[in-house]
Amino acid sequence: MRITELCANWQELMDLYPSFKCLRANPSRIFTEGSLKALYPALNSTELGTVMALFGSTAQEVATLRHDLATLIGVGKGSNGLTAQMPSFVAKFSFDHVAWMNDPMFISKMCTCVNHARALGTAVVNAFSAQTDSIDYRVLCEAMKFHFLVGPDDDTWDDIRQRMIITRTGLAGSFRLAATAKDTDFAGYVNTKAASTNFPQSPNTISWRDGYNRELVSGSIHIDYGLFKTPPIATARGTGYLLKQLTIAAIIFHEATHRWVQTDDDSGYLWEAPYHRAYPDVRLNNADCYAWVAASVWLGRVIKSETDPEVMM
Ligand SMILES: [Zn+2]
Repeated sequence: MRITELCANWQELMDLYPSFKCLRANPSRIFTEGSLKALYPALNSTELGTVMALFGSTAQEVATLRHDLATLIGVGKGSNGLTAQMPSFVAKFSFDHVAWMNDPMFISKMCTCVNHARALGTAVVNAFSAQTDSIDYRVLCEAMKFHFLVGPDDDTWDDIRQRMIITRTGLAGSFRLAATAKDTDFAGYVNTKAASTNFPQSPNTISWRDGYNRELVSGSIHIDYGLFKTPPIATARGTGYLLKQLTIAAIIFHEATHRWVQTDDDSGYLWEAPYHRAYPDVRLNNADCYAWVAASVWLGRVIKSETDPEVMM
């Protein structure tokens, strides 16, 4: 059982989270209904049932659920203690940038950029089901042709649409937006890691070197937090280049496709020549193609290169 099956959505879980804070102090505790009632008199019976389901399961289930919870809210494994709950996602700061937790301009821009990335997803998903004679649908067709070399009659049209929907749904929920590691070359990335539980063997597991079958899970979305400063002070590549907000939103959307639909970067990025030479089958799984189609539909015209005035300052 996964944590997502216990609550209708991440927000529901997040709403319950204040009740779970003792996890930090009691990481291995198995609760009973009696002890929970004593700890949390305010919980109603439904909430108690959810907590029991979370922490009264078998040890293996508990480990899986706890890992999900830790990844989402930044407690236990994977936490450096520098997490902050934003209204609808969780930020994880690096030690270098912890002072920015108290910078209202930074916090505001981070939230704005996340919501902008969500808006890209909503725009592109809506365009797929728009009237075929509408402007949105026409821009979608032009963008799909330019970035994926795909039209509405191609088999992969619907694959791309499905991945846009899954990405949009992931972004719409709560997720962890973590800072990038020191010295990274990337504006953003998503790591794949092995969950800390022994699973029955399945296509989703690999045999780990400790002999356990571990499930591969996508971790947090990492973004260069310098992008959320005003103006952006991107530290990636050390060039301090300046990106428009739409591009920062597109970077978040790019990483979201890694996170939720396991895209790769095999045909590269918009500003690179291979991006524009790749065959359709390579583009189909390329994160940047998704990001720029979504950004184009949101903008109302096709973004074709980094020289577009909406991309760079
Ligand atoms: Zn990427």
